[in-house]
Amino acid sequence: MRHIVLLGSTGSIGTQTLDVIRHQPECAKVEALAAGGGRIPLLEEQTREFMPRLVAVYDEKAAADLRVRLQDTPVRVVSGMAGLLEACAMEEADMVVTAMVGMIGLEPTVEAIRRHKTIALANKETLVCAGALIMRMAQEEGVQILPVDSEHSAIFQCLDGRGPETVRRILLTASGGPFRGWTWEQLVPVRPEQALKHPNWSMGAKITIDSATMMNKGLEMIEAKWLFGVRPEQIEVVVHPQSIVHSAVEFTNGSVIAQMGVPDMRLPIQEALEYPVRGALTVEPLDLFQKSPLTFEKPDEEVFRSIRLAREALIKGGLYPAVFNAANEKAVAEFLAGTIGFTEIFSRVEEALERYDALPHPDVYTLEDVLEIGRSI
Ligand code: NDP
Ligand code: MG
Repeated sequence: MRHIVLLGSTGSIGTQTLDVIRHQPECAKVEALAAGGGRIPLLEEQTREFMPRLVAVYDEKAAADLRVRLQDTPVRVVSGMAGLLEACAMEEADMVVTAMVGMIGLEPTVEAIRRHKTIALANKETLVCAGALIMRMAQEEGVQILPVDSEHSAIFQCLDGRGPETVRRILLTASGGPFRGWTWEQLVPVRPEQALKHPNWSMGAKITIDSATMMNKGLEMIEAKWLFGVRPEQIEVVVHPQSIVHSAVEFTNGSVIAQMGVPDMRLPIQEALEYPVRGALTVEPLDLFQKSPLTFEKPDEEVFRSIRLAREALIKGGLYPAVFNAANEKAVAEFLAGTIGFTEIFSRVEEALERYDALPHPDVYTLEDVLEIGRSI
């Protein structure tokens, strides 16, 4: 049984993680929950149901509110970044599930690695902005990183322990999002409420917008490079609107292994929590007859410049993926606030990559260098 710290428990991945544990209570015990502070009634409910030792709330006021609500329980409530770091360092935990959104997850992930916790990684922004640092630390500390992102969970399962020297290509599947097949002109007037509707997946707001721009696939290309040690040109994006094949690996001898399943994040979450065991069914079983036909197409990189921009950031290396990520995080927040248009998300990222054109490229940087990129965007 895993003893977990769940960062981002009130979000889409967080609530689904708790749902997996509800169905498979023998797979994990919740030692700590953590969230930003936006959904305190839900966090209170989760605390009463799972009775962790500790709850960390980033926002101080929200933490004070929760402390009052939980007065009748033995649960300790801590706050701020220090609180998140305390949760990640807990003696009783052996795994940290990183399901918070954005590069705010960077410092807690670094702390968890330092404390030798296995990482179940959903928070892709962390690996995108500091992949070299995170992977180096994980290797030095002997910490395993288990992917939760469905595509990376699929690739991890297809590789089954084989190294990058056996891989010819990673076939990273993408649903194409709600605007698959649209022209640039059609995308210009898109409003947040349209972009927030995803055809196959129900997710948090930020990643739903990232899926609509396909920035999500760009982030995932960078995530794949770090998790699996492949070169940028080995990663091919394949649009597969049914979201049944979660990704595939083409090996050097031409054999291709794909992983399939229903589009339900509880499946890759359970895979990470139980690894290497395969436990009982939590999700609907896959009915291939009902999902047929499965189709595959090339992405439109002229319209969805996100894929091209991610590849560019990946090839340049160093802090460029951090610039790509930070510029995108900021642009998505502005789009959701209604201050910029949908297609401006692409131009904001493009401009940022140009603006930082004089950055040194090597993959040797510090945590502070990455945080500074986040502040200066
Ligand atoms: P949500 O927006 O649904 O949830 C985000 C979570 O992060 C909430 O619990 C939120 O707390 C918490 N949070 C926000 N800011 C802070 C902070 N400063 N300190 C602590 N916690 C904070 O996001 P998702 O669950 O959709 O996504 C989470 C991560 O997983 C993202 O990196 C995303 O890319 C990745 N992912 C998500 C998938 C999905 O299907 N949703 C699929 C694959 C990857 P609060 O409620 O208090 O604001
Ligand atoms: Mg994904």
